[in-house]
Amino acid sequence: MVSEAELDRGALSELAASFRGQLVQPGEPAYDELRRVWNGSIDRFPALIARCAGVADVIAAVRFARASGLAVAVRGGGHSFPGLSVCDGGIVIDLSPMRGIRVDPVGRTARAQAGVLLGELDRETQAFGLAVPSGIVTHTGVAGLTLGGGISWLMRKHGLTIDQLLSVDVVTADGEFVKASETENPDLFWGLRGGGGNFGIATEFEFRLNPVGPTVVAGPVFWPMEESPKVLRFYRDWVAEAPDELMTIVIHRKAPALPFVPPELQGRLVVGVACCYAGPVEDGERVVAPLKAFGSPALDLCVPKPYLTHQAMFDPSFPHGWWYYFRSCDVAGLSDEVIDITAEHSLKIKSPLTSYPIWQLGGAMARVGEADTAFSGRNGGYTFNINATTATAEGFEEEREWARNFWSALRPHHTNVYVNFLMEEGQERVREAYGAEKYDRLKALKRRYDPDNFFRLNQNIPPA
Ligand SMILES: Cc1cc2nc3c(=O)[nH]c(=O)nc-3n(C[C@H](O)[C@H](O)[C@H](O)COP(=O)(O)OP(=O)(O)OC[C@H]3O[C@@H](n4cnc5c(N)ncnc54)[C@H](O)[C@@H]3O)c2cc1C
Repeated sequence: MVSEAELDRGALSELAASFRGQLVQPGEPAYDELRRVWNGSIDRFPALIARCAGVADVIAAVRFARASGLAVAVRGGGHSFPGLSVCDGGIVIDLSPMRGIRVDPVGRTARAQAGVLLGELDRETQAFGLAVPSGIVTHTGVAGLTLGGGISWLMRKHGLTIDQLLSVDVVTADGEFVKASETENPDLFWGLRGGGGNFGIATEFEFRLNPVGPTVVAGPVFWPMEESPKVLRFYRDWVAEAPDELMTIVIHRKAPALPFVPPELQGRLVVGVACCYAGPVEDGERVVAPLKAFGSPALDLCVPKPYLTHQAMFDPSFPHGWWYYFRSCDVAGLSDEVIDITAEHSLKIKSPLTSYPIWQLGGAMARVGEADTAFSGRNGGYTFNINATTATAEGFEEEREWARNFWSALRPHHTNVYVNFLMEEGQERVREAYGAEKYDRLKALKRRYDPDNFFRLNQNIPPA
């Protein structure tokens, strides 16, 4: 824990004199609440939390942090798996008070400030039957998710979050305000679409909107996990022919103790295929019918429902404060071998809270050129996001070992990794996430926009 003495008192008073947001230091009542991030296994003590109310605060905070020489963490929604949005002894530039959203229903665009959460953006856009493809848990931050790429229930129909991004407002490492779009600073715009927080602080995003729902056919169908090899083989062949409107996520877990799960199923190991059909309800019902008819499902929750309800489906499985550990990889396809590894390791899940997704890729996201944005892995088959979860430290080590072993068993099949699903895994893994050629291009861009690596608490791309 760092003492406040390391902050320059005079400079801090000067910052405070014009700061519109809140400056919070150790010992203040709100400090402990505000230094917390989503992953409960992260417990860090910054020297200052600068809660920005607007762009002027962000500029002032960057200039103050630069002069202080302390490490800087940037916080949007606080959902970084390894907790990169908080640091020990440094300064947290916290954008979470910046929650403005403006939808233009006629022009079909939306502007969202950097503290906006996915559920807030969905709420505003769905008022007009529109949506941004974003992510699958409502309390995730738009900022971090977008800067990494953004995979979602809508990505096969409408692409990644970045594929609907029109422009970004950015405060650079030297405290300058710039805009990035296809026409203004296009090199920066390229890097922001997948390069994470490496090039500056995004203060506002502008998205294109597409019609979605408001009713969609969506939800999971579950079978006992012993049937996983059979279910996954059927699933693999069925989704091979799926239209872009259909997005699926496979889940292995112990059935949760939630009201809609029959008591006899709760706590039993299950495999589920969750669907979302981003098109007319009648078409969706037809497309999901073979899945619902396969074998004897233990529970079928795949029905027409509001898109907003579906977007909140996973919220109870990933609350703030539990302990989470992730290992992730993409694979080209669900070969028999991948399926058998998956089934074997899933049966070893111990924690009743562990629930991990396998994401189906393809569709619109794969039709954007690999070189068009910094995001990498558009041609992947599936993304494994092996997630070990416990409520507290108890049992965490054992569950973490399970995730590591499972991931290692899949190693021969890894093709790539999604940068937003990395823990702190070292430079080589960041390079792996982008591939050698793109990594070099990103390093050159970093040299241009942040030659001192001021923004380094992220999936870091050091300047060339
Ligand atoms: C429960 C949960 C569900 C998820 N679901 C999905 C999903 O469906 N699809 C998906 O693609 N990903 C998903 N993710 C991963 C998610 O995209 C990343 O964790 C993302 O980084 C979270 O963004 P954040 O703003 O909430 O996080 P933060 O922890 O605030 O930030 C994450 C990283 O982004 C940087 N950053 C944040 N804001 C800014 C900014 N304004 N400017 C510059 N840098 C910034 C931070 O410095 C940090 O390095 C999920 C994560 C969680 C925890």
